[in-house]
Amino acid sequence: MKIKTLRLILGDQLNSQHSWFESVNQDVIYVMMEMRQETDYVTHHIQKIVGFLVAMRQFAEELKQRGHQVAYITLDDEINTQSLPQNLLWLIQELDIQQFEYLLPDEYRLDLQLKDFCHNLSIPSKAIDSEHFLSQREELATFFKGKETFLMENFYRMMRKKYKVLMDGDEPTSGQWNYDADNRKKLPKDHRPIEPLIFSKNVEDIVQLLSQSGVSSIGNIDAKNFLWPTTHQESLVLLDFFLENCLAQFGTYEDAMHPSYWSIYHSRLSFSLNLKLLHPLEVIQKSVEYWEQHQDTITIAQIEGFVRQILGWREYMRGIYWAKMPEFATMNFFGHDRKLPSWFWSGQTKMACLRHAITQSLDYAYAHHIQRLMLTGNFMLLAGIHPDDADAWYLGIYIDAIEWVEITNTRGMSQYADGGIIGSKPYVGSANYIDKMSHYCGTCFYDKNKKTGDKACPFNSLYWHFFERNRSLLEKNPRIGMSYITLNKMATTQRQELLKQADFYLEHIEKL
Ligand SMILES: Cc1cc2nc3c(=O)[nH]c(=O)nc-3n(C[C@H](O)[C@H](O)[C@H](O)COP(=O)(O)OP(=O)(O)OC[C@H]3O[C@@H](n4cnc5c(N)ncnc54)[C@H](O)[C@@H]3O)c2cc1C
Ligand code: SF4
Repeated sequence: MKIKTLRLILGDQLNSQHSWFESVNQDVIYVMMEMRQETDYVTHHIQKIVGFLVAMRQFAEELKQRGHQVAYITLDDEINTQSLPQNLLWLIQELDIQQFEYLLPDEYRLDLQLKDFCHNLSIPSKAIDSEHFLSQREELATFFKGKETFLMENFYRMMRKKYKVLMDGDEPTSGQWNYDADNRKKLPKDHRPIEPLIFSKNVEDIVQLLSQSGVSSIGNIDAKNFLWPTTHQESLVLLDFFLENCLAQFGTYEDAMHPSYWSIYHSRLSFSLNLKLLHPLEVIQKSVEYWEQHQDTITIAQIEGFVRQILGWREYMRGIYWAKMPEFATMNFFGHDRKLPSWFWSGQTKMACLRHAITQSLDYAYAHHIQRLMLTGNFMLLAGIHPDDADAWYLGIYIDAIEWVEITNTRGMSQYADGGIIGSKPYVGSANYIDKMSHYCGTCFYDKNKKTGDKACPFNSLYWHFFERNRSLLEKNPRIGMSYITLNKMATTQRQELLKQADFYLEHIEKL
């Protein structure tokens, strides 16, 4: 007997290579929906909402062209209740469905919602693997079972062995696991990175739909020229562009920042990867193959640096998420409680580094890793911003922000609100670090060399304020010892001046 089945595809499950789609079955109906529950759970960047909707619509079209039956509910569809369970219930009744199936969601919120929905359903239901990640949800927790620290490097090495990536048998290719020390240079003065490849799609209809529906958003968009890839094919074009033009410099300038360039040599593949338009193994294999054929121009340090991000960090963060949720979402190790200043939504600050990082985030829904970690994240941590505020900002503003990878990076790696699960010490830096890696300070209103007094760079005094106010929590951390030795050696008056300066800046945080 044939069983009429409804299969749900969420907006970040656009994996056209999934085994579900290998053959066409007329008893299977795929459902995709645009819903206010998704556009509204945080205030998203306009480019993020548009990117999701365009990619979903194109994916549904592709499935239909391949012969599959697709029920697509648009945001303004009159039957749309804007809620996932209610829409599903309606479809199950309307289409006389006998079985419900869904792909395992990557967000805890949706996982709970679907489990709950299936629990109350009168027909059989099944959850299927999304066939995207290179490790299982629970794999990291099992790998680190009984261990106090979850060292990314150990997990990454296991993954390299498991997938035989850059390996000669059990040993890393060329004998070294990690080339971090060779990487991370500032852009030379007259160095001009390649212009990023951008797409140019007209998305005026979607922007109009969002406006008519009253969906709130942040950031800017050029609706005639939407720049992000929204199909598997376009994502492959971006990957090829990266391999041909950026990989050779990727590791070297991974941490570099510059006021004239918004992505330097970064791949900008996170949106495609997170929506599953691209498979991580596809990206890794193509990259390694490209490197193998171009070893005269691309060093092992570059390809290893890139592989580490995807096979290491990305899988590791997902593993941490499933090992530590839901507690992770409420962690606040330092008890920080300050509100994020309003200039995080306008870019109107006199600090050149933050002005650039925030303005480009509003313009492109993108900032690269070090801008997120050592500019916006660093400032939030030094200023004692509540991790909930930090999470909401990052989850909203970036095109690639989906909770499993946003919260682990924000609350964990950047804000150390997890007390050291992800990082062994907080990522903080003063103007010294920022100037070492960027070209911002030269044009700044503030003076990078001054710690106190008129126009002193706020990062300098806030840095010491952070260590002083968190002394009881951090002083015993062996990786931070040097900072406390320096702080303790400071003359009392100098220390007091620094703390006074930081207090003044925190009191006037809106005016920075
Ligand atoms: C505070 C903060 C918030 C972040 N929020 C997100 C987020 O919401 N979504 C997101 O995908 N990444 C997030 N990251 C990680 C990283 O910054 C982005 O993945 C990266 O900047 C995306 O740009 P790209 O594709 O050009 O990356 P590249 O530098 O080209 O790196 C290649 C790929 O590696 C992966 N990757 C690199 N670093 C990480 C990392 N730390 N964690 C997971 N994957 C990584 C990404 O898939 C990325 O596309 C965040 C980092 C910080 C510090
Ligand atoms: S002086 Fe300070 S605020 Fe200005 S760009 Fe440099 S680090 Fe940023």
